[in-house]
Amino acid sequence: MSEPRCDSYYNATINKETDYPELEQEIRVDVVIIGGGFTGVATALELSEKGYKVAVLEANKIAWGATGRNGGQVTGSLSGDEAMTKQLRNCLGTDAEQYVWNMRWRGHEIIKERVNKYNIDCDLKFGHIHTAYKASHLKELEKTYSEGCKRGMEAELSMLNKEELSQHLNTPLYHGGLLNKRNMHLHSVNLCIGEARAAESLGALIFEHSAVVDINDGALVTVTTNKGKVVANSAVLAGNAYHKLARKKLRGMLFPASLGNCATAQLPAELARSLIPKDVAVYDTRFVLDYYRLTADNRLMFGGGTNYSGRDSKNVALELRPAIERTFPQLKGVDIEFEWTGMAGIVLNRIPQLGKVSKNVFYCQGYSGHGVATSHIMGEVMASAVVGELQEFDLFAQMPHFRIPLNEWFGNQALALGMMYYKVMENFR
Ligand SMILES: Cc1cc2nc3c(=O)[nH]c(=O)nc-3n(C[C@H](O)[C@H](O)[C@H](O)COP(=O)(O)OP(=O)(O)OC[C@H]3O[C@@H](n4cnc5c(N)ncnc54)[C@H](O)[C@@H]3O)c2cc1C
Repeated sequence: MSEPRCDSYYNATINKETDYPELEQEIRVDVVIIGGGFTGVATALELSEKGYKVAVLEANKIAWGATGRNGGQVTGSLSGDEAMTKQLRNCLGTDAEQYVWNMRWRGHEIIKERVNKYNIDCDLKFGHIHTAYKASHLKELEKTYSEGCKRGMEAELSMLNKEELSQHLNTPLYHGGLLNKRNMHLHSVNLCIGEARAAESLGALIFEHSAVVDINDGALVTVTTNKGKVVANSAVLAGNAYHKLARKKLRGMLFPASLGNCATAQLPAELARSLIPKDVAVYDTRFVLDYYRLTADNRLMFGGGTNYSGRDSKNVALELRPAIERTFPQLKGVDIEFEWTGMAGIVLNRIPQLGKVSKNVFYCQGYSGHGVATSHIMGEVMASAVVGELQEFDLFAQMPHFRIPLNEWFGNQALALGMMYYKVMENFR
């Protein structure tokens, strides 16, 4: 049964709602993609640009999952960068560092290029500040700053002391920050829908309300929904944390963590500007962090706290209000108009998981809360892989991943315990 979009700021401000049909026939394509979030749609667009015939099957609506619920922050952090670099040294040797560094920014380039090429109206803006929650956290920001300068980003990065930070951010909370002008923020549903329309204009077939219930892999892959079938040369599983297929192969690899997000009522323009005068997105240095930004219509969108139990929080606004008011005491008692939750796919070593469940059925998942840019990078990697260019896919597919050999509930409890450990250790950072 298809579920409607959640009650989020994004969904209330969609440029033009999608109206794709349910699959009710049998069709033949080159590649079938299961899941219509950033991963599925970015892969579909990439393949369509290369001239392949693609079908996207989305159980609910395009951008219904994490893609339609996130903070809209396009960060240059991939999650798992360090672990990834370590692993990649086995295959790439000393080139591993540069490969991972380039990859950090590759998603930004893809998104910018698509927004321009297809004229996608998604409130794209530049600038992030990574704020030091404790004075001791400044050291790691300085390390990132030096690394960036060493690699040619000095014009786009600035270390800000507490006083300099106050020109960007009207909060007493932090000890300084790192301004990064290359990072971006945007309206993720309008981006994803824009990309789906671009893929459609190039011949992709898109179906909503079309949950895949079965996959059969032989010489060709047959994917079945309640009312239709797609026969394809290969398939991509792009359901990420919402994925329930191929349990045998994938169980225990990815853990759905529920993240809360909210948006205030529209603020008077002057008040909004006084909070974040240069309209940057903000996130802090804690392991379980707050992240926020202004929307195009002058709301504060604020996310934070993570529930690793695998269940959604009951009252997101109530949980986030103290953090909002601590950050901006000027907003005490502000109306919170939208609140929602979403599932992010957490991987224990935080490296995105790419692989195959059978000869022609590929999967790509697990960006551990950093998926806006990463999903676009992986869209490129997957689009090459399914048509036989496996070089980059293989780099990721050969990386070992821990598997918790328990059912999802027990796995999530183990993960929650692990995260509690990190939260406690935070006090000593
Ligand atoms: C609250 C929240 C805040 C976040 N903030 C940020 C942020 O600021 N920056 C950032 O980089 N990342 C952020 N993330 C992470 C980011 O949103 C995700 O990594 C990214 O959107 C994942 O995209 P996806 O396409 O892989 O998965 P999803 O967007 O979850 O899409 C999966 C889709 O597959 C569909 N599906 C599942 N099973 C089937 C089936 N059997 N048949 C057909 N369809 C199926 C689902 O309906 C869903 O639409 C956040 C995540 C959350 C939840």
